[in-house]
Amino acid sequence: MNKINNVLNRLDSPVLTKQKIIDMEDMSFFTHALIFDDLLIVTQKETNCFVLKSSEGLIVIDAIWPSVKAYEAIVGAIKDVGWNPDLLYKLILTHGHVDHTGCGKWLVNNHNVKTYMSRIDDIYWREYPTKPDRPETWKNYNIDVYLNDKDVILCGDKKIYVYSTPGHTPGCLSYIFPVKDNDIPHMAAIFGGATPPRTKPDIQTYMDSLDYFIKEADKKNVDVALSNHTAIDNGLLRIAYSKVRYSYMPNIYIVGYEGFKKYSQVFKTLSNNMISDF
Ligand SMILES: [Zn+2]
Repeated sequence: MNKINNVLNRLDSPVLTKQKIIDMEDMSFFTHALIFDDLLIVTQKETNCFVLKSSEGLIVIDAIWPSVKAYEAIVGAIKDVGWNPDLLYKLILTHGHVDHTGCGKWLVNNHNVKTYMSRIDDIYWREYPTKPDRPETWKNYNIDVYLNDKDVILCGDKKIYVYSTPGHTPGCLSYIFPVKDNDIPHMAAIFGGATPPRTKPDIQTYMDSLDYFIKEADKKNVDVALSNHTAIDNGLLRIAYSKVRYSYMPNIYIVGYEGFKKYSQVFKTLSNNMISDF
């Protein structure tokens, strides 16, 4: 159920259709944009990843889909913005679903990236594949470093803060990290599991995790809201805008902490919608 506000017919949450699930496998379309001085977003129709530039190298956060085309799109985007794909050195995953573990196999094989995820989701990824009937989507590379709540991943001049936010998957992680826009520092947050899980207890866990992450985001002065699914944040439009943004125009990802809290409301709305449908 989608509540429509009476002002300008704005929706409170995206309409998540079966077509969006199908579109997650569409490798015919990719786009990308340098949305901060040091943060690149790469997406196909539904699922996106990020490449963060640090003084030590390039860090990929999530990896779209297990297709060489997704890998090629990421490398192509890195080259397009003038970065060097030889500097790829870390792959950090939010959770063990196929649309996030994605094309990591090629990043590992071709760039020898170090891989990061929670231990719980590494097991979950192996034991409960998202597409149980399709072996080509099953776990296909190893995790080098298991992350825990409040870990900090050191990446040269940057630190990535790790938060355990179970619910979407049992070992789902969320991240906060610094970015710069025209040399001005900001703090970005990505909540790992975009959609609520399917049972009431899991939804409660998910909402508790969201509350926890919103509080931690406040402590870290988060003012940038990121998503790993374009349906959640009009991602394709934000990217299209960012591609042609003039330097004197606002960065559409910078929303302030209050904006981040408002944005996070979408996850609660999706959860409440799901509970009311039970
Ligand atoms: Zn997922």
